[in-house]
Amino acid sequence: MITTKNEFIVLGSSSGFPQADRATAGYVLKAGESLSLIDCGGGVTSSFLKRGLDPLAVKRILVSHSHPDHCCELPLFIQLIYLSGREEPLDLYLPSEFVEPFRAYMNATYLIAEKLPFEVRFVGYEDDFSFEDDISVKAVANNHLKGYADLIEKLNLPNEMQCYSLRIEVGDQTIFYSADIGTFDDIKNHLDGHSLVVLESTHVDLDQFFEFAQEISVGRYLISHLGSADEIEQIKVLSEKYGLGNLLIAEDGMTIEL
Ligand SMILES: [Zn+2]
Ligand SMILES: [Zn+2]
Repeated sequence: MITTKNEFIVLGSSSGFPQADRATAGYVLKAGESLSLIDCGGGVTSSFLKRGLDPLAVKRILVSHSHPDHCCELPLFIQLIYLSGREEPLDLYLPSEFVEPFRAYMNATYLIAEKLPFEVRFVGYEDDFSFEDDISVKAVANNHLKGYADLIEKLNLPNEMQCYSLRIEVGDQTIFYSADIGTFDDIKNHLDGHSLVVLESTHVDLDQFFEFAQEISVGRYLISHLGSADEIEQIKVLSEKYGLGNLLIAEDGMTIEL
């Protein structure tokens, strides 16, 4: 029997500061034949095609939060699926606060859901939301967007500051995707025991992370959402200092077998 491997593929490993040689946040989880796209920042669509992935195999898209580096190419990616001849429904998981603004944006770009030849099933999710299918996913709210509270109040905006880390089960493996966080304290108690932890580096106190990593058991760490060459060098230095041999530094196109 041929078994199709499960894989976690990095499409975009840049922080929110766009870079010439990295797309911003985007990952594909390949479970057998089906693909789940996780976040869809700038450059993700062409990065997806560069890896030879099939747009028609995308079963669902999950968006962690509505910062541009995590969702700005969502309409383009849906357009790719559309122009590839999709007929099967597409499940689109968005923080609930983002569903209506995103629908309006799709309409404004003439990517009108009702006109597409396939159904876009919008699912607005909140903390603790979960589903079980070929993969299982559970959302864990974090504090990444809470710094906007004063401005939102002042301008009387409807924003709810929703950002979610995702706990994902695929086969007998578990993945914890931090997405963007407020501080490392948001997620540290969720990390132990996972096969793969995908950790954003921008909002993490790296010394705190490396020290904490000594106390827990994780299969592999993938550090992503990367900034300057200096930042990456610092991660390498700390990784050696703390002797964390199971740490990978993300690059676009990196494929991790699960
Ligand atoms: Zn980000
Ligand atoms: Zn963000």
